[in-house]
Amino acid sequence: MRTLAIILGDQLDLNSRFLQRLTPKQDQLWMAELSRESTDIGSHKARVVMFLAAMRHFASSARARNWTVNYHRLGSLSPSVDFEQALTQDLKRLRPEQVQLQEPGEYRVLELIRGACQRAGVPIELHPDPHFIVTTEFFADYVSKRKTLRMEYFYRELRRREDILMDGSEPVGGKWNFDHDNRKGFPATGPTDLVAPISFPPTNQTRETISQVQSQLPDLPGSLEHFNWPLTAEDAELALDDFVEKRLHLFGQYQDAMWQNEPYLYHSRLSAALNLKLLSPRRVIDRAVSAYHDGQAPLNAVEGFVRQILGWREYVRGIYWKWMPEYLERNSLGATAALPRFYWTGATDYVCLSQTIHQTLEHGYAHHIQRLMVTGLFALLLGVDPKQIHRWYLAVYVDAVEWVELPNTLGMSQYADGGLMGSKPYVASGKYIQRMSNYCKTCRFNPALATGESACPFTTLYWSFLIQHESILRKNRRMTFQYKNLDRKSVSERDAISRAARKLKSDLEKTS
Ligand SMILES: Cc1cc2nc3c(=O)[nH]c(=O)nc-3n(C[C@H](O)[C@H](O)[C@H](O)COP(=O)(O)OP(=O)(O)OC[C@H]3O[C@@H](n4cnc5c(N)ncnc54)[C@H](O)[C@@H]3O)c2cc1C
Ligand code: SF4
Repeated sequence: MRTLAIILGDQLDLNSRFLQRLTPKQDQLWMAELSRESTDIGSHKARVVMFLAAMRHFASSARARNWTVNYHRLGSLSPSVDFEQALTQDLKRLRPEQVQLQEPGEYRVLELIRGACQRAGVPIELHPDPHFIVTTEFFADYVSKRKTLRMEYFYRELRRREDILMDGSEPVGGKWNFDHDNRKGFPATGPTDLVAPISFPPTNQTRETISQVQSQLPDLPGSLEHFNWPLTAEDAELALDDFVEKRLHLFGQYQDAMWQNEPYLYHSRLSAALNLKLLSPRRVIDRAVSAYHDGQAPLNAVEGFVRQILGWREYVRGIYWKWMPEYLERNSLGATAALPRFYWTGATDYVCLSQTIHQTLEHGYAHHIQRLMVTGLFALLLGVDPKQIHRWYLAVYVDAVEWVELPNTLGMSQYADGGLMGSKPYVASGKYIQRMSNYCKTCRFNPALATGESACPFTTLYWSFLIQHESILRKNRRMTFQYKNLDRKSVSERDAISRAARKLKSDLEKTS
C-alpha cells in the first residue's frame, strides 16, 4: 500500500481535494469508531449517532467507488483503546509508505495521529482543510498585522476578498451590519408562519447504529427518540433547500428570539452537516445570497445568516488554531465553581434553563442564543470553571467539534480568554431573557427582582457579577452603561445582592 488516508468523523467529503489525488488501486482509507471518544467526555447519544452513522454512510459510498476502507466498528476494539493505540497497531499491520490526512478539527487528535505515525516510523502528510473559506495561515497572517482583533473587521475583509454581498467596494444595501433589525422578540402570540424543518427518518444503517449505541453505550446522556439529522451530502443539500425556502426570510428578525417548546424556530440546523463536511460553507453562502437576489429573502436575513458562516465560523476556527493548546488553559476571571448537576438532567425550577437543557437532551440541539444567553450566561454568572462548562458543550450538541465549540464557550460565552473573542463579557439580567422569550411567563421567579423569595437567579447573579469583577470590568468602556446602572444602587442594596448571590451559589454547590 502506498498511502493510508485517515478519514476522521468530521471529514466526510468523498470529493475532498486530497482524496482526489489518491487512487483506490494503490491507496486505502482508514476509519475508526472508538468508544473512548464518546465515553471520555460523556457525549450525548445523538452526537455519537450523528458521527458514527454519517461515517458508515460515507464508508458505504467509498466502497461503492472501489476504495478499500479499513474500518473499525464500535465494539470491535476494546473500550480502553484510544485513537493513538488503534492507529499505531494498524500502521504496524498495514505498513503503508505514508499517511495522509486533512487538518483535523481538534488539536488533541492531531497530536495523537502524529504520535502514532512517529511511533510506527511512517511519514505523515497533512493537507489544509478546504471546507473553510480561509486557511489557518491566512488567519495567522491577518492577526500578525493587527493590534486589536474584532470579528466585525475580519468579516468585512472576507466580504471584500470573496466578493460576497458587495456592490463594487461597498456593501450591498449600504451597510455592513443589520443587527439593529435582527434583535426582535416574538409578539405575545408567539412565532407565526413557522414551518417544521425537513426531517430525515433513520435509514436501516442509521437504525442499526442507533441500536448499537443504545446497547453498547447505555450510560451516555440524551435521547435518540427524535433523531432526524441529515447524514449524507445529498440529505444535507435537501436541508439547505428547506431552510432557504421556508425559514431564511425570517432568520434575521428572530435570530435571537426564544420560545417554549420550539427548538428550531427560523434557524437552519445546518451546523452539524457543515462541521462533518457534508456541506461546504461556500455552497451555503451562495445559496443564501441567491435567495436575496431572487427576492426570496430580505437583506437583513441574508446578511445576518452570511455573517454567522463567513464571519463567526471562520473567525472562531482561526482563533482556535492560532492559540491552541494554550487557549484551553485560559481562565481570565478565575472561575472555579462546579457545573450544577441539573445541566445533565434539566431538573430545575428555572424555566429558561429547564427548557433549554431538556431540549438539548432531547434533540442534541439548542440555538445560539439559548447556548449563549441561557446555559452559557448562567455558568458565567455563577463562576463555573471554564473547563467544566467546555466539556459540557463539547458533549451535548450534535454539531460539537472542538475547533468551533471551544472559542464559543471559553471565549464568547465565558470571557475566559480575557476578550479575544468578544470585547466584553456577554452578561445580562433575567430581563434580557424575559424580553427575548416567553420563558419567564410560567416561571415562579421574577426577572425584575435581584433579592427576596421570588428573585430571578440571573438577576441576582448579574449584579453580583458586576460587583465581584468591578476591578477588571469597570475600566472596559463597553461596560460603562452597566456600571452606571450599578452605581445607582445603594450600599445596602449592593450588600443584599451579594448576600443573596452567596446563598444561591452555596445552595447550588450542594447540588453539584
Ligand atoms: C457556548 C456555545 C457553544 C457553541 N458550540 C458550538 C459547536 O460545538 N458547534 C457549532 O457548530 N457551533 C457552536 N456554537 C455556535 C452556534 O450556537 C451554533 O453554530 C448554532 O446554534 C447551530 O445551529 P444552526 O445550524 O441552526 O445555526 P444558525 O443559527 O442557522 O446559523 C447558521 C450557521 O452559522 C454558523 N454559526 C452561527 N453562529 C456561530 C458561531 N458563534 N460560531 C461558529 N459558527 C456559527 C453555524 O455553522 C450555523 O449552522 C456555539 C455557541 C455557543 C455560544
Ligand atoms: S424568571 Fe429568571 S429563571 Fe425564570 S425563566 Fe425568567 S430568566 Fe429564567
